[in-house]
Amino acid sequence: MLKLDGATVRFGGRAVLDSVGLDVAEHEIVCVLGPSGSGKSTLLRAVAGLQPLDEGRVFLDGRDLHGVPAHKRGVGLMFQDHQLFPQRDVGGNVAFGLRMHGESKDQQAVRVGELLDLVGLPGARGRAVASLSGGEQQRVALARALAPRPRLLMLDEPLGQLDRSLRERLVVELRQLFGELGTTVLAVTHDQGEAFALADRVVVMRDGRIAQSGTPLEVWQRPADAFVARFLGFEN
Ligand code: ATP
Ligand code: MG
Repeated sequence: MLKLDGATVRFGGRAVLDSVGLDVAEHEIVCVLGPSGSGKSTLLRAVAGLQPLDEGRVFLDGRDLHGVPAHKRGVGLMFQDHQLFPQRDVGGNVAFGLRMHGESKDQQAVRVGELLDLVGLPGARGRAVASLSGGEQQRVALARALAPRPRLLMLDEPLGQLDRSLRERLVVELRQLFGELGTTVLAVTHDQGEAFALADRVVVMRDGRIAQSGTPLEVWQRPADAFVARFLGFEN
C-alpha cells in the first residue's frame, strides 16, 4: 500500500536519504532500525509530507503523493518527542485530528471516548497533559495519531522515553491493537527488542540507505553484512 521509489533527501549536499526503495503491504507492521542519524525520522517525515524529496517518489495505494500536502495524505504520524499541545487537555489533544477532518462536536466527543478506552486511559479526557506520566502522554499521542483513522500510521520512537517494563507491555498491546484495527504501520525504533517484538518485517538503515530488509528472524539469523551484524550486537 506504501511504496517509495528512489527517495532521496539532501541537506547541504549530503544525502541523508539516499535512493531508498521500500514497499509496505497492507496491514503490515514494519519497524525501521538504525543508528542515530541514519535517516529514520527523515524517512517518516518524507512519507508524511513534512519533508520534500529532492528525488524519487512516494506512492500510497498507487497514488503519487508528490505535491500532496501533509493533511491530505491520509497518513498519521506520531512524532519522536510526541509534541502534545500543553495548553489543551487530553480530550482536546485527541480531538485535534478530528476537527481537521470536519467531524461534528458530538461525533468528536464519542470518538475521543472510544480512543481513550482503546489506549487504556478511560476517564482521562479532562486531565491536563502536564499531569500525566510519560507513558500516559505517549498513549495520548497515540490516540491523537489514530483519531483520523489513518490507513497508514507512522510512529517515530513511540515508546522512546519509557522504561523497559512499560515498553515491553505496550509493545504487546500495540501489536494487538494494530491487528484489530487493520492499521498498516511504519515505526522507527533504535531498540531491536522492540522492533523484533512488534514487527512483521524489520528494515535496517545505515547512512540513508537500507542495509537489510527481512522478517525479524531472517535479519537475526542472517545479517546481510558486518554492519548489520555489529548493529545487532554480534561480535565479529
Ligand atoms: P535519531 O535516531 O537520532 O532520531 P534518525 O535516524 O532519525 O536519528 P534523522 O533525523 O533522519 O536521523 O537525520 C538524518 C541526518 O540528517 C542527521 O545527520 C541529521 O543531522 C540530518 N538532518 C535532519 N534534518 C535536517 C535538517 N533539517 N537540516 C540539516 N540536516 C538535517
Ligand atoms: Mg529520529
